[in-house]
Amino acid sequence: MDMVCPLCNGIKEEIEECSYCGGKMVDEGAIVNYLDDYSPYLSNDITQKVDGAPYDKCVHLFKCEKCGKDRRVEVQRVNI
Ligand SMILES: [Zn+2]
Ligand SMILES: [Zn+2]
Repeated sequence: MDMVCPLCNGIKEEIEECSYCGGKMVDEGAIVNYLDDYSPYLSNDITQKVDGAPYDKCVHLFKCEKCGKDRRVEVQRVNI
């Protein structure tokens, strides 16, 4: 069995509410994709430690469509 992030794999779509303006926050992708720019030689496992998230969580960046604020959201990985 594999633990995968439902958002990265398109199983689920998640919308968050902006705590500043109440607008709609959309998924900008996993944080690890951004960290890769700075740590191209790290394996995926090490990167997960670097971003401070537990192994069963995938941290995504959500951005508000209205005011542009962004927020990190921990997404629970699921078994497939
Ligand atoms: Zn993810
Ligand atoms: Zn907002």
